Amino acid sequence: MTTLNPLSVAVGRGDRTWHPWSAIRQEPRLTLVSGHGCHVRDDLGRRYLDLRSGTLNATIGYGRQAVVEAIREQASRLMTWDLAEVSTLPARALADRIASMLPAPLEYTLFCNSGSEATEAAVKIARMWHRIEGSPERTLVLSFADGYHGTTTATIAATASAFRREGVGPLSGGYAHLATPRCTKCADEDDHTRHVPGVQEWEAQILSVGPKSVAAILVEPVLSVGGVIVPPPGHLAELRALCDRYGILLITDEVATGFGRTGKVFGFEHDLNAPGQAPDIVTTAKGLTGGYAPLAAVTVPADIYAAFARDPLLGGLRHGHTTGGHATACAATLAVLDIVENDELVAAAADRGTQLLDALAPLKQRPTVCDVRGGGGAC
Ligand code: PLP
Repeated sequence: MTTLNPLSVAVGRGDRTWHPWSAIRQEPRLTLVSGHGCHVRDDLGRRYLDLRSGTLNATIGYGRQAVVEAIREQASRLMTWDLAEVSTLPARALADRIASMLPAPLEYTLFCNSGSEATEAAVKIARMWHRIEGSPERTLVLSFADGYHGTTTATIAATASAFRREGVGPLSGGYAHLATPRCTKCADEDDHTRHVPGVQEWEAQILSVGPKSVAAILVEPVLSVGGVIVPPPGHLAELRALCDRYGILLITDEVATGFGRTGKVFGFEHDLNAPGQAPDIVTTAKGLTGGYAPLAAVTVPADIYAAFARDPLLGGLRHGHTTGGHATACAATLAVLDIVENDELVAAAADRGTQLLDALAPLKQRPTVCDVRGGGGAC
């Protein structure tokens, strides 16, 4: 039997978990023990409606037995194998499934464990690809100042948020920030011009850093952690055009928006919907697994994938994780995506989104409410 250190008992009432993104405090924390549908229950038996879907990831609800069974089945058959040189059936099936849900030419998927890892992998892929294609000077990654792409020292460099950056440097180099396409009304109460930074500002920023130094533009279709900022319609198409003009790769971070959260399978589809119009690299996590397993994905077109055969040191991608594409996580994810499709959850998300926005819109009249935002239009 373990005995608790008296200090830890005083500070955390015996909870030795170091809670991320949480102020340390004495009061006991909510401790959850079970979930069913869209409700969770704590250790005192109290039931809560989960209005945020876990951490934006519990998109199919709690306790879905088909997923539990898929996990049990795969874990008893072959729980894991590192995908370096070797494949597993669930990883192959999941890569196929993701390709079938994305528009052409997005086709090949690298698996990681978390959204942060997916961002880092996408950035490395972009830089390595430019090097292979003969432009090693293209290393800079531009992202929205209010964006959020992860919590590691590289991905924190992709946001300008002082709260996230303060005291953790030096951060990885090679990042600069684009003006966020957000209404200035929200940033400055006296400014009601409603100017939203857009293509003119972004092009000026690209020209000021030198277009030939830029490897990629990395953006969320809807900025989640930054405050559910819904950029104006058309902004991704404008970014796509800028990327094409200056030879820059467009990476969309669909970690929060992917697999239905915005009423389309992927958030970029609201803007990039002409045949063949797509981002160059797409990262996904969260809704990918519905929260049933840690798994993330980076998907690229066949030509980017094939270019890595010309990598001088390996003839492939020099990157990977022990449990990236963990077989049990892939099996769980396949069962989750079955539910997303069979229960038509993407259309349901579109309906619920409209319903919620309509119902919440009157709150905008209150002096203490700055805005009501959600998928489907800018503020
Ligand atoms: N990208 C976006 C858009 C996110 O919302 C998050 C997490 O909230 C991440 C990346 C990082 O994902 P993870 O927490 O799995 O590292």
